[in-house]
Order: sequence, then C-alpha cells, then structure tokens
Amino acid sequence: MTDTQHLKERCDLRLLVEQDLGPAPLRGGRAYLWKCPFHNEHKGFSLAVWANGYRCFGACDTSGDALDWLMNYRRLSFIEALRVLGEPVENFSPAERKCLKSPAEPPEWDWQHAAERIVSQAEETLWSEAGEPALNYLTGRGLTTRTIRAARLGYVPGDFREWRTLEGMDVPCGITIPWFAADALWAVKVRRAYGTPKYQQVKGGNANGLYGANHLAEHEIALFCEGEFDTLLASQEAGSLAAAVALSSATTMLNTRWYAELTHCHTILVAYDRDAAGEKGAKRLLSLSPRFRSIQLPYGKDITEYHLQGGDVYTWIERALQEREVLEQ
Ligand SMILES: [Zn+2]
Repeated sequence: MTDTQHLKERCDLRLLVEQDLGPAPLRGGRAYLWKCPFHNEHKGFSLAVWANGYRCFGACDTSGDALDWLMNYRRLSFIEALRVLGEPVENFSPAERKCLKSPAEPPEWDWQHAAERIVSQAEETLWSEAGEPALNYLTGRGLTTRTIRAARLGYVPGDFREWRTLEGMDVPCGITIPWFAADALWAVKVRRAYGTPKYQQVKGGNANGLYGANHLAEHEIALFCEGEFDTLLASQEAGSLAAAVALSSATTMLNTRWYAELTHCHTILVAYDRDAAGEKGAKRLLSLSPRFRSIQLPYGKDITEYHLQGGDVYTWIERALQEREVLEQ
C-alpha cells in the first residue's frame, strides 16, 4: 500500500483532471474548478480539484483522490489506474491548447431570425411536390422521413449554380441543413446537387457550431462523425448508444465552448473517413484527452456507405464500446 500512497502523492490531480476536462475555467487558491461531470452540471462550477483530491460542492457531493478519479471518471480498473498514476502527465496541456480554439458565439439574433424563416420555407418546399427529388436523395441515403423532419431539413429548388435572395439573404440552391445547438441557429448549410464545393452555406452563418450538440446532455458517450448526413444516420441507427455530432469539416478545430459540453462524456468516439483530412482531424481530437478514441468502419468509406451496403451501425458502435471495456478490465 505504501507504493500506492507514493504514486498518489507524486501525482498532481489537477493536471490529471485537466487532461480529461480541459483547462480549468476557474481557479481559486490551490483549487481548480470545473463543471462537475458526475452530475452533468450545466450552470456553475461545483467540482473543486486540489493536488491531492477532488470534491463536488453541488448536487452529487462526490469526492475522492487521484485513484478514485481514474476509476470513477475514466472507469479504469484499479490496476489500470495505478499504471496511469505512474506515468508523467505534465506535458499534456500545451499540446491541448494548440488543438482547441477559443469559444465561438452564434450569429446575431437578426440573422438567426431571418435564417429560421428560410429554414421553415425550405422545409415546406421539401415536403411539397417540388421537393420530391431532394426527398428521394435523402431517403436514398438511408434517412427515414422521421429523421428528416426532426432535423428540419429543407429544399431550395433551382440549378446547383444558382443562389436565391430570401429574407434579404443570399441562399444557395439545394438541400438546407440547419445547425441548431444550444438554443441558437449557428448556420444553414446547403448540400448542392452538383459542383464543388458540394456544401455551401447561407451567408452570415458561423461555421464553428457543433452539429447535433443538443443530444450531448442525454449521453455519456459521444460520436464524432464527418458531415451532417452521416451524423443524422448514426443518430437514427444508434441514438440510444451515443450522441452523434459533427464539426463543420474533418479539419475544423473544436472550440472550448463545445469542449465544455463534452465534460460529462467518459468516451468520445471519432469515426472520421480514412482520407488525409479525416486522419488529420482525428489525430487532433485524439490529442485532446484519453477519452477520445478512434473507431474504424469494417467496410465502406463512410457511415452512410456502410449502412447502405448492409452494415449494422448499432452493432458496430456497441462492439467498439465493449472492446473498450474488455481492455480496461
Ligand atoms: Zn457533482
């Protein structure tokens, strides 16, 4: 037991927690303060962490030392936790800061209101006769009408090169994908029928949202996908297992606003494409915290292709999570 005691004493728990929860949003004296991940705290910073222990002064009143943290938060076994305590952690934070952007803010309210009206109009069009080609495209990607409605997808008809002026804003023609998160409309992306880039967006939107972020509160497992349609499909097929989310592109950096929303997630799976952009983006996310873990599809270039070729998205994610548990035992 003296070895265990020794390992605990030479470990600064604040650095360990920083690995998991990111830089402390508040510091007071010797304690660093975070949102408490054990009771999924949204307001306030009840988790106080000292060099040798932690305690939640909020709803759950949980407390412990470095070993408890590793076992309760990272869900490691006793032996695994001891091994982590033996490893140096001090070089972690600088790398992490390089891989996170400062917090993002949604666009102004005026923009959001006008954009929401565009979203509603486009939605109506999608479910009218004029929307048939777009609806066929979406269902052809494996999305159910329920998913399409819940995501509030829409359609602005017209040639793929055209832009329309709606509500005084420039809107590209194609399938509209609203980015709602944290009570705001961050952007309206548009998937065009042809042309490069395939995706445009209604002018004035902010590309630093996190698609699907609203599901995070209900889950302790997150799944980073590439692209909105893959995210919707993953959510449709395996929404009970994990909150599927997406950044604007594989190489978009996560910002601290969304990193904070991931505080309570003990596992964050990264299912990026196996191309250069996907690998770069995944590597960046994995460097943030040991909670991030890459998962590969058994076949297919992305989640949609896998699903359309008969792959079972639910089982794929379930297995990935089980493998994790086996490793930890
Ligand atoms: Zn708590």
